[in-house]
Amino acid sequence: MKAIQIHSTGGPEVLQLVDIDRPTIGPEDVLIRQTAVGLNYIDVYVRLGIYKKDLPIVVGREGAGVVEAVGAAVTAFVPGMRVAYIDSPNLGGYAEFNAVPARFCVEIPNDISDDLACAAMLQGVTAQYLSTDSFAVGPGHTVLVHAAAGGVGRLLVQLAKARGATVIATAGGADKCALARSAGADHTIDYRAEDFLPAVEALVGAHGIDCVYDSVGLSTWERSLATLRTRGSFVLYGAASGPVPPIDPQRLSAAGSVFFSRPTVVHFTRTHGELVERTNEVFTRMHDGQLDVRVGAVYALEQAADAHRDLEARATTGKSILRP
Ligand code: NDP
Repeated sequence: MKAIQIHSTGGPEVLQLVDIDRPTIGPEDVLIRQTAVGLNYIDVYVRLGIYKKDLPIVVGREGAGVVEAVGAAVTAFVPGMRVAYIDSPNLGGYAEFNAVPARFCVEIPNDISDDLACAAMLQGVTAQYLSTDSFAVGPGHTVLVHAAAGGVGRLLVQLAKARGATVIATAGGADKCALARSAGADHTIDYRAEDFLPAVEALVGAHGIDCVYDSVGLSTWERSLATLRTRGSFVLYGAASGPVPPIDPQRLSAAGSVFFSRPTVVHFTRTHGELVERTNEVFTRMHDGQLDVRVGAVYALEQAADAHRDLEARATTGKSILRP
C-alpha cells in the first residue's frame, strides 16, 4: 500500500512516499481502508521530533473510511461499517490502510460524509473538551480564542458561542478574520497587523477575559496572560509558534490567581465511552446545523509535504485532508 513515512526528523522533505505492506491487526484492532486522512498540527511536531517516536514511522493520527477487517475480540465494529478514529497510538494515518485499536474508533452517522467525520474528530473533540472541561464556557463569559480561523480555533469559536459566551477571536489577516466572524466571533483582531493586547483591552477593558484559549504559544502567551481577569483561566493547548518556556508559578499568582492548564486530548478520551460521548455531541451539533465543520483543502496523499508546508506557512484554514 501507499504510505508516507519519515525515516528521520526534519523539514517537510522528510515525508517520503513509500510502498509497504498493509498493517496486520491484533485482536483488539480494526483495519480501515481509508478514504480521508486528517492533517493536524501535531503531525508537524512529530515530523520535527518535538514529539518523539521510534523511526521509521508512518505519521498521522486521524482518518475515516470503511472497515476492512476486525480482530477476534472486536464486537462493536464489522466489515463494511464507516468509521473514523483519533489518536491512534501507533500513528499510521498517512496511508491507504491503518490498523487502529477499536477503542479509538467511532461509527460515522449516515448523514455525515467521511471527509467531514474525519475533520470533526481530533479538532472537533478538542474544541468540545476545551469548551466543557478545560473551562466550562457559559452565558456571561468572555473568552479569547487565538488562531480562530484554523482547524480547532474555528470549531472552538462556534462551540463557545453556542454555550452563550462573547467570543473575541484573533487570526492572521483580513480573510482569516472574516472566517472567524462567519464562525460567530463577536469581535476579531488581526494579530499579525496589530498587538492583540491593547485591542482586547479596547473591547473589554483591562483584565476583561474569563478564559484565554492559546494554541499559538511562544509569541502570544505573555500577552494572553495579561488579558485575564482575577481568577481567570489560561488554557494553553498548543505551540504553533514554538513552545512556551517554563513559567514561574508566582507569575500566575501575580496575574490574579490564574488557573493555568496545559491539556491534551488523550486525557479527555481515556475510554471508548468518553470518546463516543464527545464525538456524539460534535456529530449532533453538525447534524442540527449548529456546528459548521469546513474542509479548507484536500491534498493527494503524495502531496503530504506540500500540506505540511502550507500548514506551517499559516496558509490553511479549517481542516486539511489528505486523500489516500
Ligand atoms: P491550525 O489549523 O490552527 O493551524 C495552526 C495556526 O496557528 C495557523 O494557521 C496560524 O493561524 C497559527 N499560528 C500562529 N503563529 C504561527 C506560527 N508561527 N507558525 C505556524 N502557525 C502559526 O492547526 P490545528 O487546528 O491542527 O491545531 C491548532 C493548535 O491546536 C495546534 O497548536 C495544535 O498543536 C493544537 N492542538 C492541541 C490539541 C490538544 O489536545 N492539546 C489537540 C489538537 C490540536 P493564523 O495565521 O491565524 O495565526
